[in-house]
Parts: sequence; C-alpha cells; structure tokens
Amino acid sequence: KWKKINVENRSKDELFEMEMTFNEMIEYLKDNYEKQEMFVSNASHELKTPIQIVKSYGQLLARRGRENPELFQEAVDAIDSEADRMQKLIEQMLLLAKNTQAAAMQQVNLATLVSDTVSTFQGAYEREFQFKKDTDTIFVNGNYGQLEQIIYILIENALKYSKDKIEIQLSQRKNLAIFAVKDYGQGIPEAEQSRVFDRFYRVDKARSRDTGGTGLGLAIAKTIADQHQGTLSVKSMPGEGSTFSLVLPVDKVVKDEITD
Ligand code: ADP
Repeated sequence: KWKKINVENRSKDELFEMEMTFNEMIEYLKDNYEKQEMFVSNASHELKTPIQIVKSYGQLLARRGRENPELFQEAVDAIDSEADRMQKLIEQMLLLAKNTQAAAMQQVNLATLVSDTVSTFQGAYEREFQFKKDTDTIFVNGNYGQLEQIIYILIENALKYSKDKIEIQLSQRKNLAIFAVKDYGQGIPEAEQSRVFDRFYRVDKARSRDTGGTGLGLAIAKTIADQHQGTLSVKSMPGEGSTFSLVLPVDKVVKDEITD
C-alpha cells in the first residue's frame, strides 16, 4: 500500500506533506495494533470461561462421577454444551478474520436472496414472520455468502431477543437498497446502541450466554456491511423492540440486450 520514497532534493512543502503522511501511518498502525491486542485479550477471556467449566466438571466426574449418575449426566451435558460454545466462538472468530479480506463480488438479486432466507426461517421456526418487499429485483454488487450471513445474523438476533412476531422489509429508495428487521423484544438502551457492533460486546452477558451468543454476530455483520460500502444501524427502545437496518448501494442493472 505504501511506496518507498527518496527524501533528497525535496521542497519544504513536500517534506511537510511527507511528515503528515508519516504521522497518519503511525496513527493507523497504532490503531490497528491496539485493536488486534484488544481482540486477542477479549478472545482469550471468552475462551477461558468454557475451558474452566469443562475442567471443573471433568475433575468432578473423576472424583464423584461413578457413584453419582445425576452428577454424571449434569457434567456430561455441561461439557458438551461448553464444547459447542468454544466451537462457535472459534468459528465466528475465523469468520471475522476472513470477512475483513476482500471477497469475490458479483451481481446479487437481494430480493431473491432475502425471500429465500425468510422462507428458510419460516420453515424452521414457529414464530410469525411478516415479510414485505417493494419489488422482486433489487440488484447489489456483493458476495452472496456474506450477504446471506448478514441476513441470518439480523434475523437470528431478532429471534433470540424477542418473543413476538418479526417484521422483515426490503425496499428501494432512489439508488439504495434497504433491508430491515424489526422485532418487539427487549430493545437496547440508547447508551449501548452503538456498542453492540463492537466485537464481544453484549448488553446482557448472562442472557446472551444462555441463548448461545458470543457477542461477535453484529461485529461480523458490520464488517460485511463495510465490505459492501453499506451501512448497518439500529433504532431501538428498551421494552418496545429494535429495528436493524442494512443499507446498500444498488447496482446498475446490466442489460441483457446490447443496443447500438
Ligand atoms: P450475541 O451473540 O451476543 O447475540 P451480537 O453481536 O449478535 O452477539 O449482538 C451483540 C449484543 O447486542 C447482544 O448480546 C444483545 O445484547 C444485543 N442485541 C443484538 N440484537 C438485538 C436485538 N434484536 N434486540 C435486543 N438486543 C439485541
């Protein structure tokens, strides 16, 4: 990204410009380094808890498991679910790392993708899903798998953090595609709304843990939105619900017929 430069025979203006660039570079590197450090520290912290639980139950099993079938079952279940948790954490951390790299882009019909995904959820959950779309064709330039992921994350969160119906809407305003997921659940306090996109951030650690949350879903969603020159935002009222919106630039439709 940066080229080597030769500082001989440079004017004051040019040197000043170089100094500015150099300082910018340092800020950028420092910022990245700190983020990296924070990530490693958070990740180790998140992994420590399940490891600790597995270890404790393992020791308990070794000491008292044979003569106590109830304890045996409890320990086996706990070890199994903590192993699942570690697996999910690692999968999501890898996903986060992968999603920051450029992915292959193609023209994707968001209307078809969203319809298909909503159908999958309707088939898998008892919950009421209301789906509204303005049109059957909204093309965006994107990576199919990543866009699917972001839709999954937002719908899964709505399912996890609410009990009522879920409203999903896809619309177009000028050259923007807007995908929104609205729930009538617990909502998010205003002070925490911007932080939910941070890695490992959870409003309620215990509750999120119970529902299998890692605090990485929205961070993954945010990196995908960034990769697609899109924005991801939330509007929420505690006790009333939340709406997460993904806004993406619409891709100019490629004509099938070439006219001269
Ligand atoms: P998690 O795996 O914990 O769900 P996310 O990154 O997907 O992690 O979300 C971060 C946090 O944001 C959650 O722990 C939860 O506190 C909050 N959150 C996300 N979606 C919603 C929602 N639809 N309603 C209320 N809170 C939400």
